[in-house]
Amino acid sequence: METTTCPECDAPAEVRGRSVWESTDGPVEHVRVECIRRHWFLMSVASLAAAHQHSARLAAAELSWSARRRR
Ligand SMILES: [Zn+2]
Repeated sequence: METTTCPECDAPAEVRGRSVWESTDGPVEHVRVECIRRHWFLMSVASLAAAHQHSARLAAAELSWSARRRR
């Protein structure tokens, strides 16, 4: 079983399936992701990675913010 985090709520999510779709730019790999809160998404691997980079940046911003507040 492959796990990830939900792009919407950051809860643990499971990759339920992968499929490759042909597009004008060539084949694009898509994943179906379902989180424990029953959100589900069908998205390209690239947009899933982008969503995670976004939440990682948010988490880093929150960390530095709380570090600054503690002083
Ligand atoms: Zn979710």
